[in-house]
Amino acid sequence: MDLMSMTLEEMNNALAAMGEKKFRAKQIYEWFHVKLVSDYNEMTNLSKDLRNKLIAEYPIMHVKEVKRFVSEIDGTMKFLFELNDGNVIESVMMKYKHGNSVCISSQVGCRMGCKFCASTLDGLIRNLTPSEMLLQVYEIQKAIGERVSNIVVMGSGEPFDNFDNLIRFIELVSDENGLNISQRNITVSTCGIVEKIREFADLKLQVTLAISIHAPTDSYRQSLMPVAYRYTVAEIIEACKYYLEVNNRRITFEYSLVKGANDSEELAKELSHLLKGMLAHVNLIPVNPIKERDYEQSDSSHIAQFKNVLEKNNINVTIRREMGRDIAAACGQLRRDYKQGGTS
Ligand code: SAH
Repeated sequence: MDLMSMTLEEMNNALAAMGEKKFRAKQIYEWFHVKLVSDYNEMTNLSKDLRNKLIAEYPIMHVKEVKRFVSEIDGTMKFLFELNDGNVIESVMMKYKHGNSVCISSQVGCRMGCKFCASTLDGLIRNLTPSEMLLQVYEIQKAIGERVSNIVVMGSGEPFDNFDNLIRFIELVSDENGLNISQRNITVSTCGIVEKIREFADLKLQVTLAISIHAPTDSYRQSLMPVAYRYTVAEIIEACKYYLEVNNRRITFEYSLVKGANDSEELAKELSHLLKGMLAHVNLIPVNPIKERDYEQSDSSHIAQFKNVLEKNNINVTIRREMGRDIAAACGQLRRDYKQGGTS
């Protein structure tokens, strides 16, 4: 494992195994997670000899900015980052009144195959390491010169398909000896991997869980998300109820509205029925069309009607505000264009 992905205790052991004094670990941990330095040569309180040993034994998983798009409307920024192996990932920074929120990727590509999503078109390339998730946040904080206060794990990839690295990332980024981002300000979004929802519940983190539900019935869900063949809506809801029992933290249900596919009044009623009485919040997302598929956004009147039905049934609901409209690109689209030489 790379050093930046380790807890302080693990770093202590790693340094001890190199014949170094224990306090060296604390120094390096601070360079990484407080001073946000990701180059051993800048760690001036380490000897040249130790720096060289670290360079040889624990290469850093760099996340290097290769492109940035800035919205002139609301300051939203999209970053393309290159990894050590040449793979490219994307992250987004949104400015809200309550602070700066960063949306990170958890994998290079994705194997879930959702029909409207660009991240999955070429399948899964590999998991990101905890350090590569951290560095998306660190690099953005350095780039904007302001503190990042919120994180959403809603970029490319399925976080629960990279579970152990995700949990490590959450623990490190919320560590009070590190960047110290409150877990309450972190949201993790999953397409609904049932065993992992339960495992996540048992960890009793303070993080918000978001479920990409996108349809209230199995057959509609299957038409949009292949993962729906593996887990039924009923199983997901059962796992969510377990999560609520253990954590009592409101769950967000994401619902991307696709014209003619999942935006009928009937489905809004079924969704209301499904979520009735649950500590839940529905986030309606007008689908962001990708050029490889012919899905269209629902009309605004349809979206309003869908929202109305939920409200009438006492379901908490909001329509996701569109950020960075002028640099709009669906999940995974930037990386794809970049790889194909399409962005200039
Ligand atoms: N794999 C995780 C997290 C990444 S996707 C998940 O499925 O939740 C984050 C959210 O954006 C998911 O709800 C996903 O379904 C949605 N999404 C992906 N592509 C989209 C698009 N083109 N338009 C609207 N929503 C999209």
